[in-house]
Amino acid sequence: MKKAMIVMLAVAIFIGCQRVPITGRRQLAVIPNSQLLPLSFSNYRGVIDTSRVIRSGSDAQMIQRVGNRLREAMESYLRSNNYASRVEGFQWEFTLIQSPQVNAWCMPGGKVAFYTGILPYTQNETGVAVVMGHEISHALAEHGNERMSESLVASGLLQGAQASFGAVAQARPQQTSALLLRAAGVVLPAAYQVGRALPHNRKQELEADKLGLIFMAMAGYNPNEAVQFWTRMSKAGNGRKPPELLSTHPSDARRIRDIQSQLPEAMKYYQAARR
Ligand SMILES: [Zn+2]
Repeated sequence: MKKAMIVMLAVAIFIGCQRVPITGRRQLAVIPNSQLLPLSFSNYRGVIDTSRVIRSGSDAQMIQRVGNRLREAMESYLRSNNYASRVEGFQWEFTLIQSPQVNAWCMPGGKVAFYTGILPYTQNETGVAVVMGHEISHALAEHGNERMSESLVASGLLQGAQASFGAVAQARPQQTSALLLRAAGVVLPAAYQVGRALPHNRKQELEADKLGLIFMAMAGYNPNEAVQFWTRMSKAGNGRKPPELLSTHPSDARRIRDIQSQLPEAMKYYQAARR
């Protein structure tokens, strides 16, 4: 790596470093939300407008209900811990899309999509809360911003850190949108293909699992269901083409073990929520 590149990365990390709520992990997130969120919202609209959205019925209502309960639990936690600014400018939305894809994702700023193909695996409302908790935690922890920042800085596209993201997005709108969709784990139909969804990195996956367990518990959903859900998912991948969610969310023994080790803590929040 060239010296200049190392200096640039070091500067970007210094300027852009922040801590993830609850886990306290330091991350590089150099793209200002004032620039990232409008881009995310317009790309979400683009996906929604070209998808078969289910707006009524019990499944659509369930997605909304779980989304709103988890969002309220998360926001109340953030308010009491001086983290409210982390979701400033978010515009939460929980959409159910008719599609055989076994997938769900959340774009920066709280834009969630569930595909009907995942419902046989979630099986019940608590199973939906497992996936919802995980997805909204990606948004809270700004994993999309982190992945885009790392990728833009490493490719040398984002040199002046914060200020120049707008310029990059303007100069390369398609590339920037593609990067955002891939960072969120969106698998688009072939006609809209922008490259394969990026596998989420393990660090971010385990972090979203942990935060998700806590928020589902705070919202009054039994976090034990997470073990059942990920066990069902890991069996689904065997022998056949693995579901889309598994292509971006590797599920293995490590993930389930980690969740099991975090359950005692999550159960405290669950019991407090039920009191
Ligand atoms: Zn994930």
